[in-house]
Amino acid sequence: MKHIAILGSTGSIGTQTLAIVREQKDIKVWALTAGKNIKLLERQIREFQPKLAAVWEEADAVKLRENVRDLPVQVVSGMEGLLAAAVIPQAEILVTAVVGMIGLRPTVAAIQAKKTIALANKETLVTAGHLIMPLAEEYGAPILPVDSEHSAIFQSLNGEAGNKIHKILLTASGGPFRGKTREELMDVQVEDALKHPNWSMGKKITIDSATMVNKGLEVMEAKWLFGTDLDRIQVVVQPQSVIHSMVEYEDGSIMAQLGTPDMRLPIQYALYYPMRRPLSGKRLDFFALGNISFEEPDIRTFDGLRLAYEAAGRGGNMPTIFNAANERAVAKFLDRKIKFLEITQLIQECMKNCAYIEHPNVDEILETENTVYEWIESRW
Ligand code: NDP
Repeated sequence: MKHIAILGSTGSIGTQTLAIVREQKDIKVWALTAGKNIKLLERQIREFQPKLAAVWEEADAVKLRENVRDLPVQVVSGMEGLLAAAVIPQAEILVTAVVGMIGLRPTVAAIQAKKTIALANKETLVTAGHLIMPLAEEYGAPILPVDSEHSAIFQSLNGEAGNKIHKILLTASGGPFRGKTREELMDVQVEDALKHPNWSMGKKITIDSATMVNKGLEVMEAKWLFGTDLDRIQVVVQPQSVIHSMVEYEDGSIMAQLGTPDMRLPIQYALYYPMRRPLSGKRLDFFALGNISFEEPDIRTFDGLRLAYEAAGRGGNMPTIFNAANERAVAKFLDRKIKFLEITQLIQECMKNCAYIEHPNVDEILETENTVYEWIESRW
């Protein structure tokens, strides 16, 4: 029996995690958390019977408490609610499926409570990898990747203990705008950017895929998860999203993990690691696929990827500045307040103008986030 808690159970990763729980039948869910979607959370509470449920606003918690008063569930709110769910004693695995830097404090608390972290919330490692990885080591808390690329790298490292990674080949679909020029991207609309060719994901990460900022965040995530220098992480565009990433070893051998684009696979692998379980769904059919192609990323058009390497190279709070600026810019783009190309323009401006801190602690990381938000609000 597996015992889990899920932060962000109403989102894309959260609902797919619960689909696995439904299919596998030997996973007990102890805590569920949502942002605002209390209708879906209520349905999840009725189906999975957790002991604890959390939402962001206390007003929503009041409504939800009333709606589930027939059930033995405690409903809490705010950061305290997220923290309580993250460290609930009965769960051994925490699935971090919230979007954004909100995942940072709960992940720290879960590591300190010696939970296994099934990590989807990449923003945590992007902004605080220098704190999270040593902390996980200190507390003996395994961090298992949920992101499909990082799961592929993780799986390509199986049985290779002691062998040095020569290069990580991080694959990218190229997103909905692959092959377009900057001129063609000037007036693209929210609806166009939300049409990912292969993956069905939450809105924020889908826009991040369109700008290729997501690939930049994944480069930073890979650097921390696998302890690899940036110049050994190469992004390879593979438009069919069949090769989920690869590891090249010193002898030139390349190990890869392939499959259909289905997030349930990496989620399930993290939940049952090192075991594999049967999983329903489509299988990769090479004859139907025909071919797999490769391209170099166009970092002149998709400058978010270039800026991500720059932020990662400078380190300190620069990845936080990059990430926070992107979070706010994406929200503005989704609200139709800025244009698509202004997303990375805004990131660049923040990287130029917000104060640099070389070794930020958690408080300084969260202060940086606020500084970036204030800077953006005062100028854009
Ligand atoms: P979604 O937007 O679909 O879901 C986000 C979840 O976080 C929802 O449950 C949402 O609640 C909750 N949430 C949002 N704001 C708050 C808040 N202030 N307080 C508490 N909870 C909040 O995101 P995804 O599932 O797409 O992504 C989650 C994470 O996983 C991201 O870090 C993403 O980069 C990563 N990831 C996602 C992949 C995917 O395929 N989707 C692939 C690889 C990584 P509600 O909806 O109720 O408001």
